Amino acid sequence: MKTNYYDYIVVGSGIAGLYIALLAAERGSVLVLTKGSIDDCNTRYAQGGIAMAMGKDDSPDLHFKDTVAAGAGLSDREPVSILTEEAADCIADLIKFGVPFDTLDGEITLTREAAHSVPRVMHAGGDATGEHIEVTLSRQVRSSPIKVLENCLANEILVQRGRVVGVRALDSHTGSIEEYGCKFLILATGGAGRLFKYTTNSDVVTGDGIALAFEAGAEISDMEFFQFHPTVLRLPGVAPFLISEAVRGEGGILRNVEGRRFMPGYAAEAELATRDVVARSIVYEMKKTHSDRVFLDVTRLPSRRTTTRFPHIYRFCREHGLDITKGLIPVAPAAHYLMGGVKVSIWGETSIPGLFAAGETACTGVHGANRLASNSLLESVVFGKRIVQRTGMTTVPRRGKKQSSNTMSCCLAERGPVSKVPSLNLPNLQSLMWDKVGIIRSGKSLEEAAGILAAWESLLARPSDRPAYEVTNLVLCARLVTEAALLREESRGAHFRTDFPRTSQEWQRHIVFKKNGIN
Ligand SMILES: Cc1cc2nc3c(=O)[nH]c(=O)nc-3n(C[C@H](O)[C@H](O)[C@H](O)COP(=O)(O)OP(=O)(O)OC[C@H]3O[C@@H](n4cnc5c(N)ncnc54)[C@H](O)[C@@H]3O)c2cc1C
Repeated sequence: MKTNYYDYIVVGSGIAGLYIALLAAERGSVLVLTKGSIDDCNTRYAQGGIAMAMGKDDSPDLHFKDTVAAGAGLSDREPVSILTEEAADCIADLIKFGVPFDTLDGEITLTREAAHSVPRVMHAGGDATGEHIEVTLSRQVRSSPIKVLENCLANEILVQRGRVVGVRALDSHTGSIEEYGCKFLILATGGAGRLFKYTTNSDVVTGDGIALAFEAGAEISDMEFFQFHPTVLRLPGVAPFLISEAVRGEGGILRNVEGRRFMPGYAAEAELATRDVVARSIVYEMKKTHSDRVFLDVTRLPSRRTTTRFPHIYRFCREHGLDITKGLIPVAPAAHYLMGGVKVSIWGETSIPGLFAAGETACTGVHGANRLASNSLLESVVFGKRIVQRTGMTTVPRRGKKQSSNTMSCCLAERGPVSKVPSLNLPNLQSLMWDKVGIIRSGKSLEEAAGILAAWESLLARPSDRPAYEVTNLVLCARLVTEAALLREESRGAHFRTDFPRTSQEWQRHIVFKKNGIN
């Protein structure tokens, strides 16, 4: 084990993993394990940008209020204060590393996105923010002493006497399995967007970190809250492609297939309502008009503004035969972002000593039931930095806060036999989740899904290659999402149940799972 020993092992090479690796390298040896190539991740697809209160009418306090309002009563106040107050420091790091945020006359330009009171979203390359962040950070990592192992899939967290001592990983090219030891293991493995048939997420985003942490005994929180992005390109034969929220922020409007603008009939904020409201309104409108899409209309914006502000979207649509300055953009919702994940303290600590989690795989409590647009890149860096700070502390603050009273602790429910179980493969799993555990859920659809998922789990053989590990991890994450959605007998934020359509005061609490129950 000694030759493979590092102070820090970071699993994942999106914004969270690379940023943490760069900061950690100032304190010790660092290994980054990533299961594809270094830039296979969700980060590089981020378009809209990264939120930070810097405009003249803005303040961390206003950013706090918008974040908490979007979170529908479940955002935890302390991490949200940290997110909004420590943003400037972390964005300064990104600028120092070389991220080329867009400027006008030497000033950083800000855009407005849905549910933000003011323009506060910084962007790069117009709508290519994530790509610029990923390219910049990976270039920095490549030119540092940080060791990076690509095509290396973490498949087990090693725990001895209650403390994390390393990680086991599969080299998916050679099939060999290695153990790597460390003082601090940081999961930065992203969310679980591949759970669903329609998703904006990269192929690598299969909930691995959440599944590994659960198996190792860590607490997993808020899994029922999955954000569906309202506007994802729906063109036959074209993979789902995000049409950024910023397009509506800049004046794009939604029309049904009959050409009628419909959002003002659903919400006072119309197209700028929170994502859950816009996504559900689109689903209702599609049902009403018997269509699988609606349209986003930017034809009334000056075409030069559209092509310069959204060059990436413009080019992508153009390549697929659509000039968005002249024609309507066919869109429908798709799975986008997991609010839940590995439960962490304000220092990124999980419930297992030595194990940390950051980025989309973590649940810091910031997003509550619904993430405010452009807060996830920010969360990755703010709480990523705190992890590195925490590992350097000589006097150790008490680990995390006491279990708060607004938490419900659970084990995964046992389920009885199911009469008809479809064969387990990725498309069947994704269809099941989309149809039964998607944007609009009910007790009946969730029960059906829960039974099939439990049956699939009992049939799983020991995985030996990357696809098999991914399906195994997705089945576990699907169970966590579905069982949490069944327990939550209300509708709140991104979680909507037709049999419990109202928000209930009684449910203003987090659902937390742990493999062997919570002590
Ligand atoms: C299309 C799109 C647009 C978005 N736009 C925005 C935006 O404008 N603003 C915003 O704030 N957020 C946006 N988001 C969300 C945001 O991009 C993500 O939440 C964020 O990038 C997550 O970063 P991360 O580092 O946690 O994970 P990722 O960037 O997803 O990286 C995860 C990494 O973990 C690796 N990995 C996973 N499992 C394993 C394993 N078992 N072993 C080894 N490695 C593993 C992956 O290969 C990958 O390198 C967007 C998301 C998408 C999909």
